[in-house]
Amino acid sequence: MGFFDSFSKAFNDRDVIDMYNEDDEENGNYYRQRCFENTPSNHGWYKCIKCGKSFRKGDMDIDHIIPKSKGGTNRRENLQCICKHCNRSKQDDTSETNQDLKRRKKELKAQDKEDLKFLREARKIQNKEKRKK
Ligand SMILES: [Zn+2]
Repeated sequence: MGFFDSFSKAFNDRDVIDMYNEDDEENGNYYRQRCFENTPSNHGWYKCIKCGKSFRKGDMDIDHIIPKSKGGTNRRENLQCICKHCNRSKQDDTSETNQDLKRRKKELKAQDKEDLKFLREARKIQNKEKRKK
């Protein structure tokens, strides 16, 4: 029995995704990785949601939609990828916060749908393998 097998038996798909995306406040840099994982990319190119241009990971910043200085968290709902240039001009500006939060929620919903699909496919393949044995 593989890791995935025992893992997925104990939890339903939704729990797996929630657990995976759980916030890790202790590891302060982890949110960067988490944000990229939860942002659609085109073969490693990420689109800045502010200027619409595409950049490589290294040229993207993680923006806290609600700034940390105003109590924003490291949760993925509060994170978005924007380019370094836009991030510099945004700073603690909250004029687009509501709009950003709404957009981010939608984006995550789509992302979770993809992840669920992936889990289901993985499970299907595994069940097929089992039947072969
Ligand atoms: Zn930008």
